Amino acid sequence: MNHTKIVLVGAGLSCAIIGNKLAQAGYKVTVFESRNHIAGNCYTERDSQTDVLVHTYGPHIFHTDDKEVWDFVNDLTEFKPYTNRVKTTSQGAVYSLPINLHTINQFFGKSFTPNEAQDFIESVADSSIKEPQTFEEQAMRFIGKDLYEAFFKGYTLKQWGIHPSNLPASILKRLPVRFNYDDNYFAHKYQGMPANGYNEIVEKLLDHENIEVILNKEFKRDMADNFDHVFFSGPLDSYFDYELGRLRYRTLDFVKEIHQGDYQGTAVMNYGDENVPYTRITEHKHFSPWEEHDNSVVYKEYSRQCEDGDIPYYPVKFNSGNELFEKYVQLANAQNKVSFVGRLGTYQYLDMDVTIRKALNAAEHALKALSAGLPLPAFFE
Ligand code: UDP
Repeated sequence: MNHTKIVLVGAGLSCAIIGNKLAQAGYKVTVFESRNHIAGNCYTERDSQTDVLVHTYGPHIFHTDDKEVWDFVNDLTEFKPYTNRVKTTSQGAVYSLPINLHTINQFFGKSFTPNEAQDFIESVADSSIKEPQTFEEQAMRFIGKDLYEAFFKGYTLKQWGIHPSNLPASILKRLPVRFNYDDNYFAHKYQGMPANGYNEIVEKLLDHENIEVILNKEFKRDMADNFDHVFFSGPLDSYFDYELGRLRYRTLDFVKEIHQGDYQGTAVMNYGDENVPYTRITEHKHFSPWEEHDNSVVYKEYSRQCEDGDIPYYPVKFNSGNELFEKYVQLANAQNKVSFVGRLGTYQYLDMDVTIRKALNAAEHALKALSAGLPLPAFFE
């Protein structure tokens, strides 16, 4: 047994992975979790009324190109094949996302072939924009005004609370435009859904004799004195009691409804119109198409600025958001025994596979440094 005392704050994917690797190497670790459950935002639970498996903190679909990460999660729980196919409602009609040949043909009332569609989109796009900087320029350059206004302008305003002309092009670049009928939302090699939800992944990682998990326990900075090292996966600014001000986030409100039968026929329906107040509706039973349920749980999803006490979801890192973050990075670097990890600790929007990859790398780095008696960095590469 190694006598170095390690504390991990937050029982989500990041700390579960780092904690597991350290525990396996003989370190005694304590995990503090402020919620009454593990698994962070990928927590899933059965709804008591309908027995539907619900993604409590919003839809989580696993997709990755990283074979090692895919094997890692498959070793921990059973994954079933699942392909994310998103629909969107705009001006009373339903279309397929990401924009593909079906979307284009339906939207413009055409029957274009792939080449014809490409020529047509090029003719309606604004080719005078050479190097798009903003979300809006990226949209005008690659899909043109009509598709942009139908599917992206209103949705993005609702999602970010910022006009697309003030958002970076990188946000839209997450989504492809396809000139074939491929309506798979993700272009990754591996995609699936855990048969019984995500919790088992985190449960198994934390199930080790060297790991103690304490739920309902808020971590305070002065508690660090009792440990040799802290891995902190809570919000970076919260560690410093927001002393420089609050990092900006969007939070989400999920308004839950129970319906009989099939509510919308698919898992995710986006709403492109600005005057529909929610961004999307998630119908959870469609995330487990191998199950049968008479009734259904839907979440209407509303996005707004994150205030004190809200759950932070999307970092708003654009414009001046990044400057405050850089100041917190300086504060973090001045600590000598805290490493900030995960989505909130590093103030980054991370998909689950990237979170796992980063945590695996951090654990490897940490183990090497600890065994060599070297200090751990505030942030891992
Ligand atoms: N987006 C949109 N309409 C849609 C879906 C996405 O305008 O129907 C925009 C929105 O600004 C979003 C971005 O495209 O933040 C990236 O989409 P993605 O599905 O990756 O969103 P996220 O996973 O960030 O919610």
